[in-house]
Amino acid sequence: MNALVLQNPGMASIETVPEPVLDEGVLLKVRMVGLCGSDLNSFRGLNPLVSFPRILGHEVCATVVQGDSYLPAGTDVALLPYTSCGRCASCRRGRPNACQFNQTLGVQRDGALTQFIVMPREKLYPARLTPEELCFVEPLTIGFHAVARGRVTADDVVAVFGCGGVGLGAIAGSNCRGARTICVDVDDDKLEVAHAVGGSHTINSTRESLHDRLLELTGGRGPDVVIEAVGKPGTFRAAVEEVAFAGRVVYIGYAKEPVSYETRLFVQKELDVLGSRNAQPEDFHAVVHLLESAKFPVDQAVSLIVPLEKAAHALRSWSENPSRFKKILVSVD
Ligand SMILES: [Zn+2]
Ligand SMILES: [Zn+2]
Repeated sequence: MNALVLQNPGMASIETVPEPVLDEGVLLKVRMVGLCGSDLNSFRGLNPLVSFPRILGHEVCATVVQGDSYLPAGTDVALLPYTSCGRCASCRRGRPNACQFNQTLGVQRDGALTQFIVMPREKLYPARLTPEELCFVEPLTIGFHAVARGRVTADDVVAVFGCGGVGLGAIAGSNCRGARTICVDVDDDKLEVAHAVGGSHTINSTRESLHDRLLELTGGRGPDVVIEAVGKPGTFRAAVEEVAFAGRVVYIGYAKEPVSYETRLFVQKELDVLGSRNAQPEDFHAVVHLLESAKFPVDQAVSLIVPLEKAAHALRSWSENPSRFKKILVSVD
């Protein structure tokens, strides 16, 4: 069967690889795969977790080939692309999403940009959704999980910094919980999508004062919860500077360099500073529910759909012009 293999940074090509052997688990035919910023980082050699050669792909729509009465052949599924060891401190605390020894599909082990894969049945989420929608399940769960970490309720005003794929999930998740959500980005196109997925207000921080606008929108207090989905030192700092006293800060962005802080704000404001990584099964159920109720405009969030043969080319053009695409989907069948 064919697969998109990343041989080394910048070198992706279609190769023939052996079909998977079904010993235990469920045999799936891959239908469509989404590419996100972490795939782009792997392609650019900026993802320290990835090893080579590697088949990419962790945002997946697949169809059951060989199932049972509970999950019959022909069922379309999204899948949870992480592993958990069951023994580390995170796993013992019931938080396998933060497993110390996690191996994500397409990062530490071969992923889904190929024709067939085998997955454990407990990692499959059947849903009556289109392939495009199913590819959005996993990326949206990341933001939903951050909203859960921030204990967001309908009484909160939430600011989401960064309206890329991860930020959009946080906006949709915050909106699902009834919170008023302020979306911040430097790109008007992204802010438009942010508004369409449930953002109440938008701030373009290149044109407007982030500080002044946040105060204006929160009666002078600042947001109760700030979710950082950018990963830059400036936004890491702005999160603790702008959040309200006794507020919560949730970091999903992976900072690529050290960040220096005015740590007095942690104490003075008595902040909850929280990390958020991957997602839990309940986040998958919540996102499937959101998509099934057609409350997320998937079409608006997709920039390009290409066949598997063109996936390497798409990655190259995305790498050359990162702001040009929001979400690229690869159609495998
Ligand atoms: Zn992703
Ligand atoms: Zn573990």
